[in-house]
Amino acid sequence: MNLKINEIFYSIQGESLYAGLPCIFIRLTGCNLRCSYCDTRYAYEEGHFMSIKEIFDHLSQYHCNLVEITGGEPLCQNATPFLITQLIEKGYTVLIETNGSKDIGIVDSRCIKIIDIKCPGSGESRKNDLENLNRLSISDQLKFIITDKQDYEYAKKIIHSAWPVPYPVPVLFSAVDPLLDHAILAEWILADNLPVRLQVQLHKILWPNEDKGR
Ligand code: SF4
Repeated sequence: MNLKINEIFYSIQGESLYAGLPCIFIRLTGCNLRCSYCDTRYAYEEGHFMSIKEIFDHLSQYHCNLVEITGGEPLCQNATPFLITQLIEKGYTVLIETNGSKDIGIVDSRCIKIIDIKCPGSGESRKNDLENLNRLSISDQLKFIITDKQDYEYAKKIIHSAWPVPYPVPVLFSAVDPLLDHAILAEWILADNLPVRLQVQLHKILWPNEDKGR
């Protein structure tokens, strides 16, 4: 069984509740969306096929048991759920970052799912599979990438139409740099007393001039 891999690299987890931890990233090729602010366009087509064994051989050079499956959109490849289960069986803690347009129910329940809900500023909000809000486990996380006030209001509406406070999973808000200042987003969150977590992309602060492998 093969997967098309864009890159595998070892870095610091830049987002999510795992931010700051060393992590191995497996970036899969392909995405079904075309977000206006996408910073991984190089993953739409580029990549090479690797077997599950070759992936494990590659991972063995790193002494780290935290792995994130990312993309592109990792659930565009049929073999991704199998890879995730194999990683978990080998003792890895596995995160998947997914764009929210695919059914997350096909992923091993032991995998920690970070689900992006696309806001209007992405140009892809109509592709959200909002049924995923009913498929979340307690260890999962919900993420909104916000470009402006309209996106912020959209995110608020999605959360509040789904859940009362306290939310069943952590909700993460991040501003798209340079479209929205993190401080402005922080002010909106404080004004609304919204129990969400403001996050910045740590890897972009650490390595501002590197697009790939970080
Ligand atoms: S889902 Fe992610 S990889 Fe795909 S276009 Fe949007 S930002 Fe880019």
